[in-house]
Amino acid sequence: MALNDEYVEFTIPKQKTIALIAHDKKKQELVDWCLKNKEILSRHFLCGTGTSARLVCEHTGLPVKAYNSGPLGGDQQVGAKVVEGKINFIIFFSDPLEAQPHDPDVKALLRIAQVYDIPIANNLSTADFMIHSSYMDTEYVHRVINFDRNVEKRVKEGHLVEE
Ligand code: PGA
Repeated sequence: MALNDEYVEFTIPKQKTIALIAHDKKKQELVDWCLKNKEILSRHFLCGTGTSARLVCEHTGLPVKAYNSGPLGGDQQVGAKVVEGKINFIIFFSDPLEAQPHDPDVKALLRIAQVYDIPIANNLSTADFMIHSSYMDTEYVHRVINFDRNVEKRVKEGHLVEE
């Protein structure tokens, strides 16, 4: 089996769609980071979970499309957009010291970003390295599992009971 039909190439465009998410004790950190990087962020499309998006918008003046609040499914909405190829860069300042009611959703978002090979920063230094990467000003071609091929294979393997 050819290795290369296991994967398809996706392109993260020059103008990225960046999701901004922070847990409550990290929201100040996110707002400060956005203020510091406002000029770079202004060249991309921004979105985020409800409260984070609103705070960034109010404090930076940048337009930020808001999804639902995280505990009400916002992380899942962001994850779905990653699957659709519509969000391709994530800044997610999660709180490592406090249990979250929506922990399964948080884990699901981390997992889906991994599956789709999307850059995702979970702390300040990673966010700084990412935002100053030369890829911020260019397209980035990456490999993602070929889902058509994957479904075809799984159907062929057959998970139905033989008649
Ligand atoms: P929020 O959600 O931006 O609505 O606070 C973030 C989260 O807790 O995942």
